[in-house]
Amino acid sequence: MSNITLGIIGGGQLGCLLSQAANKLNIETVIFSDDKNSPAKNLTKNFIIGNYDDENLIKEFLSKVNIITYEFENIPYKILKKLNEIKPVLPKPEINKLIQNRFTEKDFLNKNNIRTTRYALIKDEDDIKINDGLIPGLLKTCTLGYDGKGQFKINKKDDISSEIDFSKEYILEKFINLKKEISVIISRFGHQRYEIYEPIENVHQDQILKYSKIPAEISDKIKNQAIDWSTIIAEELDYIGTLCVEFFIDNKDNLYANEIAPRVHNSGHLTINSHNISQFENHVRAVCGLEKLETKKIHNARMINLIGADIEDYRGKSFKDNEFFFDYLKNEIRDKRKMGHFTIVEK
Ligand code: AMP
Repeated sequence: MSNITLGIIGGGQLGCLLSQAANKLNIETVIFSDDKNSPAKNLTKNFIIGNYDDENLIKEFLSKVNIITYEFENIPYKILKKLNEIKPVLPKPEINKLIQNRFTEKDFLNKNNIRTTRYALIKDEDDIKINDGLIPGLLKTCTLGYDGKGQFKINKKDDISSEIDFSKEYILEKFINLKKEISVIISRFGHQRYEIYEPIENVHQDQILKYSKIPAEISDKIKNQAIDWSTIIAEELDYIGTLCVEFFIDNKDNLYANEIAPRVHNSGHLTINSHNISQFENHVRAVCGLEKLETKKIHNARMINLIGADIEDYRGKSFKDNEFFFDYLKNEIRDKRKMGHFTIVEK
């Protein structure tokens, strides 16, 4: 083992896959998770379970690790900041703070001349009526929403669901006629030092990622623009580690940045089998200050997310040598829950 121990906050599938990539590089990991049933329990050796604001657990975690990273963006900023005062947290907590909030995230993109859907900050029903130019639109909570959670379609300005809780802030986004969704994954090691994966084409069902594939069927213009914008984002954030930018393409072939994920991303799972170095390994290499190696595609690939009961069709089956089944070993099958994934590479 090397003399680095990497602390990972979050014990879901992303945390486990990060931990496995680190272990392959001889880096010990400690996962800190607030979920006693998290997959980390079955898939990794060292973990701490309890609330992220538990002083004793924070102390224990800090005493065991040299560097800290995280698998999801919704960790309270003040906890990341506190940890960062003692051991380096990468990506930097300030990045997480900016991106945790859809409004500040979209402002950041627009300040950098990166196109997004049109949007406005919404604090009450009147704000929706004033911004009727954004209707039809999607109302999304500024914080804590993912996989379509906390989102409402607004079709008419006087047809506003009573389920909307205006004690929270929202953004209203103009609805786009989507032709395609793509994502770009980039691992940045320092100023102008990065490895970038080609755009990945994604299909969502019920707002949850279902299929990803490379190559994406897109024009060179879109491909280059998505790569350029992702590079600008990583540089402007002075980001260290792997990040993902999710994009929309509309039916007139305009590209829009939708979201930045300051972490490894589900659409990049196929890089485990398609590339010589996965998004997880590059993240660990970047945050631990290891060597940046040239990242190359070996195979085209596609990935299927196994959601809910889908997993039952895969468990106990045998597969061909170009097929890779990942079971997150979650203790219970639940509707809309990501239970595993399946990657097929082209040989
Ligand atoms: P998000 O939570 O922003 O990633 O949204 C989840 C999914 O909802 C996206 O991947 C799209 O399929 C869809 N979606 C989100 N925003 C828009 C929009 N402004 N116009 C059309 N579809 C959208």
